[in-house]
Amino acid sequence: MQREHGKANVNNERTLVSNVSSSTTTATKTQTTRATTPTTTRERIQVTGKIPDDRPRSDRFWMGIDLGATNAKAAVVSDDGKVLSSHKMQLDTTSKEGLMPRNVVKRLVACAEAALESAKMSWSKIAGIGIGSPGGLDIERGVVIGVANLFPGCENVPLCAMISDSVGGVPAYLINDADAAVLAEMWVGVGRPTSSSDPGINNMVFLTLGSGIGAGVVVDGKIVSGKGGTIEGGHHIIVANGRACTCGSRGCLEAYASANSVVRRAKERVAESTSKPSVLSTRDLTCKAVFDAAAAGDELAREIVDDTAMYLAVGCINFFRILDTSVIVLSGGMMSAGRTFVESIRGHIHKMDWSVLPKNDAVMSSRAGAHAGLIGAACAARRNHTPKG
Ligand SMILES: [Zn+2]
Repeated sequence: MQREHGKANVNNERTLVSNVSSSTTTATKTQTTRATTPTTTRERIQVTGKIPDDRPRSDRFWMGIDLGATNAKAAVVSDDGKVLSSHKMQLDTTSKEGLMPRNVVKRLVACAEAALESAKMSWSKIAGIGIGSPGGLDIERGVVIGVANLFPGCENVPLCAMISDSVGGVPAYLINDADAAVLAEMWVGVGRPTSSSDPGINNMVFLTLGSGIGAGVVVDGKIVSGKGGTIEGGHHIIVANGRACTCGSRGCLEAYASANSVVRRAKERVAESTSKPSVLSTRDLTCKAVFDAAAAGDELAREIVDDTAMYLAVGCINFFRILDTSVIVLSGGMMSAGRTFVESIRGHIHKMDWSVLPKNDAVMSSRAGAHAGLIGAACAARRNHTPKG
C-alpha cells in the first residue's frame, strides 16, 4: 500500500501559519536550520513511499513545481518522466508583502497554470502536484517549517494545502529540493532502467555542487531522510579543524569542494603566489573561470581544480564506505568540465582508497538534465499518489 506523505489536508493546515518575531532559517538543504521541533517524532528512513511498479500511463500527467529563493518554475510531466511544457516566473522579491505565503502561492499557481496552458491542458488532467522546496520541511504534513528569504515572519506554512486548495483540490506533495534532484536521476537519469529486465539503480548518492553542496541519498529505492527529514551530506567533515564553513562548523566537504570554495581557494593561492603568474588574478573571479583556465592550461588553476577533485574523492569514499552505494552522481556548474574532472576524482579515489575490498569509483555526471528539480518533484507526487476508487 502506498503512503500519502505530504498529501494536503486542505481544511486543517491553513490555520498553522503563524507570525513569529524572527525568521532564522536558511535557504538550502545545505544550510538548513530547523525552526521548530518536528511534529512527528517517529524515526523514519523513507519519505517517498515504495517504488511504483505500475507502468507509465499515456493518460496520466503530473505537475512539478520548484520553489526557489527568487523564482518559481513549473512543468507538466508525463507519466514516464518527460517534460511536456515548462514555465518560469520571478517571485516578487521587492517587498516583504510579495514574499508572504499567499502571494508566493499565487505566483506558483500562476506559473503552473502557464505551463498547463502551454501543454493545452487543464487541472482536471493532472493527477498530482509535486512541490520541491528548500528549507526545513515537514514532508508528511506538507508544511514548510521555515526557509530563508521567503515567508518573512512566518513558520509552519501549509504549502501543499494552500496550493491544492487554489486549484480545485488536486493533491499536492512536498519534497526537499535536493531529494527531488536524486529522484529525477533515479527516474530518467543515471538510475533509469535500460531494459524491461533491468531494475535500474536503487542505491545512489546525489551531490549538487553549487555555492553550497546539497546531498540526496537513496538506499534500496527509498530516499533516506533521517529522523528530522534532512541529511546534510555536504557538511560531513573531511578535515578536522579545517576551513570555516557556512554552517558554523569547520572542515566540511562544502568548505572545500563547493563552487564558492573553489573561488576562495583560488584567491588565496593567487595572493600567496609570487612565482606563478595566473589568469586567476582578477577581482571578479568565478568558479567557471577557474575551470576554464585549468582547461586552457593555467598551472595554478589546474592545481585548484585537482585539489577540488581530491576533496570530492574523500567525500565520495566516505559515502561509498558508509552506504555501500552503487553510484555517486554529481551535478552543478563545475561538472560542465566533463569527463576530465570525473576521471580526476576517480584517480584520487584510487590513490586514497583501501585494499581490503575492491575500490568503488562509480562517480558520474548527472544525466537528468536542466529540469531535474521539476521532474523529481513530479516523481514524488507519482510515488505518493493513491489513485481514487
Ligand atoms: Zn558545514
